[in-house]
Amino acid sequence: MNPKWNGQFSCFDLVAKTHERSRSVVRVRDLEIGGSDFVVMAGPCAVESEDQLLHTAEAVAEAGARILRGGAYKPRSSPYAFQGLGVEGLKILSKAREETGLAIVTEVMSEADVDLIAEYADIMQVGTRSMENYSLLEALGGCGRPVLLKRGMCATLEDLLRSAQVIAMAGNPDIMLCERGIRAFETATRNTLDIAAVPVLKSVSHLPVIVDPSHAAGVRCLVATLARAAAVVGADGLLVEVHPHPERALSDGNQSLDFDEFREMMGDLQPYLELQREDRQLRPQLLATAGAD
Ligand code: PEP
Ligand code: MN
Repeated sequence: MNPKWNGQFSCFDLVAKTHERSRSVVRVRDLEIGGSDFVVMAGPCAVESEDQLLHTAEAVAEAGARILRGGAYKPRSSPYAFQGLGVEGLKILSKAREETGLAIVTEVMSEADVDLIAEYADIMQVGTRSMENYSLLEALGGCGRPVLLKRGMCATLEDLLRSAQVIAMAGNPDIMLCERGIRAFETATRNTLDIAAVPVLKSVSHLPVIVDPSHAAGVRCLVATLARAAAVVGADGLLVEVHPHPERALSDGNQSLDFDEFREMMGDLQPYLELQREDRQLRPQLLATAGAD
């Protein structure tokens, strides 16, 4: 059975929710994503220096994050902007893992870098601009690491699921989907967080769903609110940008939380996660409203 959302689209078979497979759990070191835990991935947009990353890693770990994010290869809109530290950034990420025990998620932009990045990363992030880079997706099929697949900013949910299917067909079943906001006519936020994407994806697919409130909001004052919304609608975790001095960040400073703001966001999440627990019981009904092929 391939769940069909509201008559609109069918989920691709390898990633579709079935009676036999209603949820998949992605294992990353000692973590299970898509199980009963809500897993928070946090850290700077880009790795800028050892000092910046190690400080951030300690702060986010102390506040309850389990995975450290940080881009070493950055897809920047401007060719004049900071492009990331490359392999030096990967080495700093690996040092932060040794010192804090946090797993590492970092972006891969090109199939040429897959083997190198897989040596350092625990999770390979595919950015919004790369969601339809099929040669990259195919190369990730054999990388031996779970993939965090971000939704293209102009992609439908069917497009996102199609890209997940490409990775799965290439041999890698360990995929997490990430809603990070889409382009819409609204300009008050950097992107429009499609909060309905979470229950829809969870209804048609067995894959875990992560929400990135930072790139959706584009401004730090909205990040905690969107994170709480993600918790209530059933997300399996968050991807959040945190920087020791957001005003000095080399990328995405406007949407990055400082350490105090991140700690506060984490502290405030708990009651919303309790609401999610109740909502989980409603999911079979949601699935029943979706037709079947
Ligand atoms: C990022 O996570 O820093 C990033 C570039 O995200 P996105 O691909 O969603 O823009
Ligand atoms: Mn960013």
